[in-house]
Amino acid sequence: MSYFTHLECGYCGKICDKNKIWNLCPGCGKPLLARYDLESARKEFTKDKLKNRQSTLWRYKEMLPVLDSKFCLSLGEGFTPLLKAARLGKEIGMRNIFIKDEGLNPTTSFKARGLCLAISKANEFGIKEVSIPSAGNAAGAMSAYAALAGMKSFVFMPKDVPKPFINECKALGAEVTLVDGLINDCGKLAAEGVKKFGRFDVSTLKEPYRIEGKKTMGYEIAEQTNWNLPDVIIYPTGGGTGLIGMWKAFDEMEKLGWIGSKRPRMVAVQSKGCAPMVKAFEDGKEFAEMWEGAKTIADGLRVPAAVGDFLILRALRESNGTAVAVSDEDIIDSANVICRKEGIFAAPEGGATLAALKKLLKAGWVKNDESVVLFNTGSGHKYYQLWK
Ligand SMILES: *Cc1c(COP(=O)(O)O)cnc(C)c1O
Repeated sequence: MSYFTHLECGYCGKICDKNKIWNLCPGCGKPLLARYDLESARKEFTKDKLKNRQSTLWRYKEMLPVLDSKFCLSLGEGFTPLLKAARLGKEIGMRNIFIKDEGLNPTTSFKARGLCLAISKANEFGIKEVSIPSAGNAAGAMSAYAALAGMKSFVFMPKDVPKPFINECKALGAEVTLVDGLINDCGKLAAEGVKKFGRFDVSTLKEPYRIEGKKTMGYEIAEQTNWNLPDVIIYPTGGGTGLIGMWKAFDEMEKLGWIGSKRPRMVAVQSKGCAPMVKAFEDGKEFAEMWEGAKTIADGLRVPAAVGDFLILRALRESNGTAVAVSDEDIIDSANVICRKEGIFAAPEGGATLAALKKLLKAGWVKNDESVVLFNTGSGHKYYQLWK
């Protein structure tokens, strides 16, 4: 049973019917967000209900938008460990560093969370074909859940994406189109198919459900820290779904009476080769400009323009957080440190969070005794060409 009531535009506030299929806001073209009857949920959905529930993100199903459980798809996604990184902490002089290891999700990245929800919701709507432009992990995750649901899936990827990302989609039954261009060029091609064949477009924040899957990271961090949120969360930001999602989750949990008003300072980390959010944050802008010539080894961070830019920037500012750009060299070095100190085969995006922490520590923005959660958003396995 879900407390999902309606969708609301994150920008203009327009309300949309939860029983219809939506992509972006029909009024202003910005992302739609799922809203819940939190007043009723506060009385009925208490924390102790979580005890003895399955260790997947469906443990929070009351706060997820699938109305009938029979449409929920699961490959064991979510409820990943929040690991205390003691050896890493010692290395950089901190006592309370934790790594949320998202590489343990199905298809080895946290994209599984979002696509689990998007495809489950499509399943509930009776949708038969789904489509995505993706620079990597999102496509694999979509392919997996589409296979599980018996849907046809269409993937549009830049042709220079590392082979394992491409082959994973093919193995999972997707029809893959390789595009001579960047992710936004893939988006244009995918959109043609969406228009022509009526496929459901599951691009980042162009449908309202992926963010609901990603927000469960916020619920999990709260539950795993015994409802005492950390001081700082460092998140490798591409489209920003997880950051926006967690910020939304904290708000929901406060309204549910699960946590108080304390919030972590949210940090977005990007690569110097593609840092539109960092630039917009520093310039005090509400929206980010498109980043020209985006280039980074961290495929998940190669997003030159994000539809949810204003939501990312809002969360950073409301939380007294910040945005940091790090070099690809620091990203790889830091990923290697996580590997060797903690035994976690980190993705470069995960490495970026440690690179950012080191910078923030040096600048005095983070204090040695503060608690920090780093997001290792994927496993290093698909980036085989980076490891020497
Ligand atoms: C997609 C991706 C990101 C960026 O996630 P967003 O929620 O789009 O900001 C970070 N790391 C990895 C491994 C990814 O696949």
